[in-house]
Order: sequence, then C-alpha cells, then structure tokens
Amino acid sequence: MIHEVFPVGPLQCNCSVIGDENSHEAMVVDPGDDIDEVLAVVARHGLKITRIYITHAHIDHIGGAMKLKAATGAPITMHGADEMQLPLLDMQAQWVGMTSPGKIRIDEFAKDAHSYRTGDIEARVLYTPGHTEGSSCLYFPAEARLIAGDTLFAGSIGRTDLPGGDHHQILTSLHDRVLALPDETLVVPGHGPNTTIGEERQSNPFLQK
Ligand SMILES: [Zn+2]
Ligand SMILES: [Zn+2]
Repeated sequence: MIHEVFPVGPLQCNCSVIGDENSHEAMVVDPGDDIDEVLAVVARHGLKITRIYITHAHIDHIGGAMKLKAATGAPITMHGADEMQLPLLDMQAQWVGMTSPGKIRIDEFAKDAHSYRTGDIEARVLYTPGHTEGSSCLYFPAEARLIAGDTLFAGSIGRTDLPGGDHHQILTSLHDRVLALPDETLVVPGHGPNTTIGEERQSNPFLQK
C-alpha cells in the first residue's frame, strides 16, 4: 500500500493519499487545502483517485474537496451526521483565514462498519462521534493502520468546544471503538505526528480510567 501523509493548509491538516500498487487506484483522505500538491503526489505515483473521504466537516479537512472532485471526478464520502456542519464552513473559513470553499455536496454518506475498497485495499468506517456529530475514522485492517481525523492525537484527543462537539461522546467513541483496535495499530491523526493505539492506551492522559 502506498500511503503518503502531508500537512495541508494553514492549520496543517494531515492529508493522506492511499494507493494500491496493483490497480493504481487511490483514495484521498481530508484534502483540506493545497490541492495542487495533492495532485502532484498522486501523479508522482501514477495513481487514479477513485474516492475522496472526509473524516469530518471542518474547513481544514474538507476545504479542498470540491476542487479535488472537479479535477478527478471522484465522489466525496463523509458520515451524514456532519451534513449540518456544511452551512458553517463559510464562517469557519473566515476564522482560519481561508477562502470560502463554496457549496460542498456529499456524494455518498459513510455508514459505520462499511468497507470501501481501493483496489485490493480495504478501509473500514469507524463511526466515532464527539469532536463533531459526524466524525469518523478509517481503519485498514490488513495494514493495521488508522486514519483518526481529529478524534485522537499523539498525547491528546479532539476538542469538543466547537458546534456539535460532545466530550462524553468522544470519550465513549475512543474507549468503545478506537481502543478496541490492536495495540500495534499505527495511528495517523488529523494533525501532528503519528502514534500507535498501544502508546495512547498507555500514556494518553485523556484515556486513563
Ligand atoms: Zn476538526
Ligand atoms: Zn482538524
């Protein structure tokens, strides 16, 4: 599996390009900004984008989705519970100094436990509300890898003081869903460095009982 992670936009959201070496199909997760850079990474590996996956509808994760869709024709996929966030994107863009992304249309609503295939690669949706109502993670069982969005960070967890945030709910998502994954799972958070489930289980101060 090709997996390139690079920070995009003023808030340095970790964007992922996941590619299958055999079929050359690719999925892009959280193309928040810098779509030219995303397309350059895709072209460098000779990939074709067949899906755009959004972990949640914050501007730093979804801001470039329509531009990437226009360039590739790939459908935009996100959990439906974050659709109510879409009208807030203009305001969010102002807060962080990004240009407004315009109207964003979700093509397919992700459902918990559904698997998306990119060539031979399986990505399973883990519905993990709390940072927003519609936050989700993508789990790659064969590669023992989790793209966590803003639900889990190295040494921290997602903030819950923004619209739709719920501290009790994010803790439930983390304990019941995320920490149910094996310790060796590599975690690629929405911002900052990678970590593992085992490391966070042991030392993340927000996850201690
Ligand atoms: Zn967020
Ligand atoms: Zn973020």
